[in-house]
Parts: sequence; C-alpha cells; structure tokens
Amino acid sequence: MKTTQNKHILGFTETELKSELKEMGIPAFRAGQLLGWIYNKGIINPDEMKNISKKDAENLQKNLRFEPLTMVTEQIAKDGTVKWLFRLHDGHDIETVFIPEPGRGTLCVSSQVGCTLNCRFCHTGTQGLARNLTHDEIVGQVWMAALRLGQWSDQPFDLKQHVENTGFDDPWMVEMLEKRPEKEEGLERARIISNIVFMGMGEPLFNWDNVEKANDTLMDKSTFGYGSRKITISTSGMVPNIGKIAQNLGVNLAISIHAPDNETRTKIMPINKKWDINELMAALRAFPLKQRRRITWEYVMLKDTNDSIKHAKMLLKLIEGIPSFVNIIPFNEWPGSPFKRSDAKTIEAFKNTISKAGIDVNVRRSRGSDILAACGQLRGETSKFNSISTEFPSVVMQYGTDQQKQKVSVKIVSE
Ligand code: SAH
Ligand code: SF4
Repeated sequence: MKTTQNKHILGFTETELKSELKEMGIPAFRAGQLLGWIYNKGIINPDEMKNISKKDAENLQKNLRFEPLTMVTEQIAKDGTVKWLFRLHDGHDIETVFIPEPGRGTLCVSSQVGCTLNCRFCHTGTQGLARNLTHDEIVGQVWMAALRLGQWSDQPFDLKQHVENTGFDDPWMVEMLEKRPEKEEGLERARIISNIVFMGMGEPLFNWDNVEKANDTLMDKSTFGYGSRKITISTSGMVPNIGKIAQNLGVNLAISIHAPDNETRTKIMPINKKWDINELMAALRAFPLKQRRRITWEYVMLKDTNDSIKHAKMLLKLIEGIPSFVNIIPFNEWPGSPFKRSDAKTIEAFKNTISKAGIDVNVRRSRGSDILAACGQLRGETSKFNSISTEFPSVVMQYGTDQQKQKVSVKIVSE
C-alpha cells in the first residue's frame, strides 16, 4: 500500500533508482528514462511518460511517491525576485526564493522548517524548529522552482515577456536577459537556475544527512547535474559538520560570522556559546579549500552592534591568510525586529576598511524587499506547527525549553 513511508522519486540518483527499480521488478534501464522525463522535460507523473508501460506506471505509483510540493503562493517582487511558499505533505510550509541577476539565477533553498538556533536578528529563528526537511523535499524545491520559471515549458522563461507582462522594467533585468549563460553541455537549454544556495530557512548542518543526500542528487549527471561550484552551503557555525562539506561534497562554504569577537557574537548568535569563534576558526583553518575557491563570510550590519571600524579591523585579523570573500548584508528589518540596519555611511566605511586590506568585499543589494523575500525574512507565517523537534538532543539540551529537555533526556535514557 502507498504510504508516506514510500520513497519519493526526487530523492534518487540514477544508480540508486536502478537498484530500487530492480527490487520492484522493473528493468534498471527505466531509471534513465524516468529521470529524463523528470529533469529534462519537467514531467513527474509516470502516467504521462510515453515510453513507460501502463503496468510499469502502476507498479511505480504503488511503490514510490511522485507528487511534487504544493505551491501555496508565488510572489514576484518589483525587482524580479520570486518567493514561493511550498506546502509539504504534512502541512508544514517552507519558503524558497529565486534571485535573478545579470548572467545568473540563484535559488535560495530551505533546509529545515524553522530553525533551532535563534539568532537574534533572524526572523526564521523566532519560530523554533518544527522538523527537518527530507532530502527529496530539498530537491523538490529546485524542481518546483524550475517548473514555475518555465525551465521545461515550450516557451522557456522569457524575461523580456515577463518584463512586458509585469511592467517591471528594472534595467538589470534586460541586462540579465542579454547575459544569460549559453546552454551548458548536456542540457537542452540554459538553466534558469544556475546557482543554488542553502540560505533559506534552517541550519543546513543540523540536517546534514538530508542536505548531503540532496546535494548528491542535485549533482548527479542524470538529474540536474549541478557542478559543485554552483552550490553553496551557508552555516552559522555548526563546527562538527563543517569538514564534511569539503570531504563529502566539495561545494562552496559560506560562514555566517556576523561578529569578530566572542562577546558580540554570543549576544547575537546563541550558537556561539556552544562553538565559539576560536573553535570555529580552528575548523575553518583545517578546511581543505579546493583550488581557486574561497570562504564567503556573511556579515549582517546591525546598527551600533557589530558595525564599527574596530569590528572591521578585528574581522580582518580573524580571517587573515584564508582566501576570503566578505559579503556584507545590510540588516533586513522585519516587523518587531530588535535591531536597526546600519546607516549607509557606516556600511560604506566598513566595506572600505575590508577592501583596503585587499580582501574582496561586496555589499549585498537587498532583493525582493517588497515581498519580504530577503535573507532572514523567511518565516513561513502560515505554518501550523511551532515547536522544536527532538531530533537533535544536543541542540534541545542547549536551547530547548525545560519540557523539551525532559523529553529528550527521557529518550536518551530509554535508548
Ligand atoms: N542557517 C544558515 C543559513 C540560512 S540564513 C546560516 O545562518 O548561515 C542565510 C543568511 O541570512 C545568514 O547569513 C543569516 O545570518 C542571514 N540573515 C538572517 N537574518 C537576517 C536579516 N534579518 N537580515 C540580513 N541577513 C540575515
Ligand atoms: Fe537559523 Fe541561520 Fe536564522 Fe540563525 S540565521 S536562526 S542559523 S536560519
């Protein structure tokens, strides 16, 4: 019988699918056909796959799940940023954001429903953690976004048309249209989503197994086939899993550093109590960076908190010797947020201090602000659930309520 226990089709690499099909009595070569329909044509329902027999389609439907994420809302901002609210099969909602720029289209995916880590400036952090996303739900965001953006439609995402239809005539859009990458080898046409960043809701390294599997699937040649350079995992500093990003996946690493000293960092990021800057930096200095790669340091500018020249100089000292790119993020205020955005002059001075030291630095342009799509504003307001899961006993022991701690310790004892 079909249950939610059944595996979802978006969770497979070709090799994995071959062995799964064999067990179901379906020849292994069907795996390539199935994935071809899904990832080259955007057709996910086996009944619609012309070279799959009715019998095989029934068998597949019986043993696997095929339903894509449900789209609850799709908002398109004035600057072309698109934010989706996707509903999971159990009613949780997550957010996924597409950010078009000249020559690239970045998809910001969520890794958890909410987050346990409670960074003071982050809207997601205020909602607690409901649960981890499964790996197929992570891939599912990319698949749905690609579908919505017209990756596989007869009329691929036509920015020009889009600009005309929506009346958004921001000049960068036209520029993006002109600089769209030529189609990549092996693809029927250029991808609309060229880069993926794990910067949506959740802390990816607290959901390592699913994030790793999702990356394996996204990079598989028979699915989307993304190169490791096109994917970035952002972490607030979950030290024990940082090394795995290099060892197991080879994708890019972004660190949400946000403050160069323990006192300031602990104030804004409680995770710093568990793994402080010294431990974090030791892990990063041991991180085997691939050739021509660098660590991205994310630094949110909070007025009168972490934004002085002194902080900039301390940051320089901290990252000295590490190939680096500093990404300054003007704080995105959300209703009720306890901080203010640093003023433009302060941000500029901070940036200049970094760049004068010869470090590449960029001030992130705020995107999709009219639809609250920018970093840290993702919250899934409609989610019905609002509690910390007990999946990470160590995190719950650190941050959970007394009741949750009690639950977890009971679980540990009974194991
Ligand atoms: N949990 C991971 C990834 C998701 S957050 C992490 O923290 O790295 C993605 C980025 O947005 C992080 O750098 C985060 O610190 C930043 N961010 C969160 N809230 C923000 C806000 N209100 N304004 C600007 N950046 C924010
Ligand atoms: Fe979680 Fe990242 Fe938000 Fe911190 S900034 S609460 S780690 S999502």
